[in-house]
Amino acid sequence: MQSSLEKLRKFFRLEHENGYANTAVIGGLANILNFWEGEARLDQLPEDLVQATAATLTGYADQAPEGRAEALKSLWKQIQSQVPEAAAKKPAPVRAARPQAQKGGQAPAVEMPPEARQDAGVALSQSKGPRPPAPRPAQPRPGRAESRPGGVTSKRPIALNASLTVLSGVGPRHAAMLTRIGLHTLGDMLYNFPRRYDDYSALKPIRDLFYGQQVTVIGTVTFTEARQTRGGRMHIFEAVINDGTGGLRLTFFNQPWLVNRIKEGEAVSVSGKVEQYLGRMVMNSPDWEPVETENLHTNRIVPVYPLTQNVTQKWLRKLMHQVVTYWAPKLTDHLPEAVRTAAALPDLGTALLQIHWPASQEKLKAARERLAFDEIFFLQMGVLRQRRDWQSAAGRLFEVTDDWLADRLSALPFALTQAQQRALDDIRRDLKSGQPMNRLLQGDVGSGKTIVAALAAAMVNAGGAQAAIMAPTSILAEQHYRTFLNVLSSEGGLLQPGQIRLLVGDTPEKEKEEIRTGLAGGEVKIVIGTHALIEDPVGFSDLQFIVVDEQHRFGVEQRAALRSKGTNPHLLVMTATPIPRSLALTLYGDLDLSVMDELPPGRQVIPTHILRPNERERAYSLVRSQVKSGYQAFVIYPLVEETANGELLAATQEHDRLQKEVFSDLKLGLLHGRMKPDEKDAVMLAFRDRQYDVLVSTTVVEVGVDVPNATVMLVEGANRFGLAQLHQLRGRVGRGEAQSYCLLIPDHEDAAENDRLQAMAESNDGFVLAERDLQQRGPGEFLGTRQAGFAASLKMASLSDVPLIEKARDQAQALFARDADLKDPEHSLLAEALTRFWSAGRGDVS
Ligand code: ADP
Ligand code: MG
Repeated sequence: MQSSLEKLRKFFRLEHENGYANTAVIGGLANILNFWEGEARLDQLPEDLVQATAATLTGYADQAPEGRAEALKSLWKQIQSQVPEAAAKKPAPVRAARPQAQKGGQAPAVEMPPEARQDAGVALSQSKGPRPPAPRPAQPRPGRAESRPGGVTSKRPIALNASLTVLSGVGPRHAAMLTRIGLHTLGDMLYNFPRRYDDYSALKPIRDLFYGQQVTVIGTVTFTEARQTRGGRMHIFEAVINDGTGGLRLTFFNQPWLVNRIKEGEAVSVSGKVEQYLGRMVMNSPDWEPVETENLHTNRIVPVYPLTQNVTQKWLRKLMHQVVTYWAPKLTDHLPEAVRTAAALPDLGTALLQIHWPASQEKLKAARERLAFDEIFFLQMGVLRQRRDWQSAAGRLFEVTDDWLADRLSALPFALTQAQQRALDDIRRDLKSGQPMNRLLQGDVGSGKTIVAALAAAMVNAGGAQAAIMAPTSILAEQHYRTFLNVLSSEGGLLQPGQIRLLVGDTPEKEKEEIRTGLAGGEVKIVIGTHALIEDPVGFSDLQFIVVDEQHRFGVEQRAALRSKGTNPHLLVMTATPIPRSLALTLYGDLDLSVMDELPPGRQVIPTHILRPNERERAYSLVRSQVKSGYQAFVIYPLVEETANGELLAATQEHDRLQKEVFSDLKLGLLHGRMKPDEKDAVMLAFRDRQYDVLVSTTVVEVGVDVPNATVMLVEGANRFGLAQLHQLRGRVGRGEAQSYCLLIPDHEDAAENDRLQAMAESNDGFVLAERDLQQRGPGEFLGTRQAGFAASLKMASLSDVPLIEKARDQAQALFARDADLKDPEHSLLAEALTRFWSAGRGDVS
């Protein structure tokens, strides 16, 4: 075993024998680092072990004996796992730490080797005094983190990938707890942004306090008292502090140990909210700390981090502080200087430091902007690259003549809208471009996307190849199937009915087999279906065109699975979700975009009314009269949270109530997300076939089923829905000739003024509503699978911050134009950061 490890082993053993009292080395175990790191590197120990050791020992003094035992143990384990010679040796038998009190049998402390003593200098004489405030976790090895000779910037410090157990006070158990909040490595810590901040930076004299204030006060403890409440159920510790201007009473509940921590005559700093109790000012369970220690928790803008079980704010904050203050300044910025200057942003180290420990609100704002910029910038770089990759592949050419197309169009029962015509032109151009189409067709509910998809499929069929259309539910797939049959295989049409097939979960196995054979042999030209299409045995002879309808309903893998059934097939994804342009360009920058912003002529505006809860009877009578005239109605309920038993399905209860008490003479159906897919389909089909008058449902009806005979959309608890959702729901009616209505009933009176509901009443235009919602609530509402994936990766950036998005996009485009592959050594850190960003589970294109 290397001599440096041998030494370490001896120190650890001694330390064990001393009950982990940090007495094995004079001045504390950390002092060995002064010589040990150098020796270890001479011994060529792996760098991460050196750093892990440095980190463990640096924080060693701060821990209780139990924690110390655990820290040394886990460090030694790590060493054993990497250095075979160490594996056989134990630093000490593994057993619980001896309490510190048992000082009797302590082994003598080891003297530092003379050369180390010299190096250690002042540190050695500090054995008793307070430890220097800034802990010293792992140190980057020169040449790893910093510039190499020749000015080529290299990787980010390797230690940022180190597990959290390298930190003092973090054993495997703590590390496991931190995993639950997504913290695995030191790098994760840096990017573990505060949930919010408490601004304690305004320190107040006690005399000037008033109730309700959130403040920090420093004072001397003048009185303490501990007692039990009657019945002994609660322990109360009270203290009074005085700062010379007045006194303030502090009350702590069930923290009996404070008796030994907050003592008369000592100075403490407390932060919290000033409250009133029996006419006196009090603070209940404030954050507090003795004033000698570094003011981590008080007297400044303090970060508040997301927590998990058994992790306290104070503990995590301290750990975060240790990591951030040490590492942030040492990071080399991945963003090229030129970009940073052009965008007027602080450097990465400053931004990270300030996002955790802001010196002022202004600095915090700048830090946020910088980190948000990075996210959008990365997003955009990735999207540009994705697009280029797509474009570099070859796509089969499909070209049809004007006459051919004119024939198809004249066979339709209606003329295409301008918007449909434009979308079709786009698609036609893609198909003859020689590159795979990669297009998003965005069109409001009812804008007629299906016809466009069918005509596109026909162009590909005309070239002899196959097309697959995937829809999220079998009822939608069936609906599309009928449209395709009508458009493509009616009299004189292009295809025989048998060449267009429907493949859903419910398709009888025999028929499935027949379809599979047809697809593999090439006789079947178009298949329309659900996820059943991507189940393994389905193979195509020549799949060249894929349509994914309601794309946000599919996961990335599902779309990729379908795509992989062809070779660089053309891809058309469709969505009814109106995505504001600023968002679309950022999130879908890799896709070409066709927007259908026009509904077929004669489409009715659906009058939308907001009713108060006590006007519900009016809604019911509209439902009754519409049903009497032969129409049908939807009644939608939100999911209601109930504390004890999780979700309560309002729809189920209300269905029963409506059936019994309100519409006892009508036939009511029930639909909700907990039903199995085929049960859901059965209910929807039954509703479409008029077996029910009223369908009581959760939002599962939201996706595109066509029931032209339904004329009323009644939404209960409407204030709980987002605009996009309400708009989708409203799109379920008004699909036939008859005048339709949308009625929105919020939960409670004041929500009747709800902006969103008002917007619904004022506009029927999905894009107007989308822009409005984006302004009001940010982009979350419009996020499907893919966007939600992005949003999760966007911790800082708000997609409604259009100026920032534009700035980041401009910079990304400019850089992409200069060095698309980030080959320039100056961009190597950026290349790495980009890879990290995109490898964290972000979606792909379709
Ligand atoms: P979505 O875009 O919501 O998927 P669909 O494709 O389901 O819309 O079309 C909605 C309805 O509009 C269908 O009944 C369809 O036949 C009809 N439609 C589509 N295009 C036109 C048009 N140009 N003129 C009249 N009706 C149309
Ligand atoms: Mg549709």
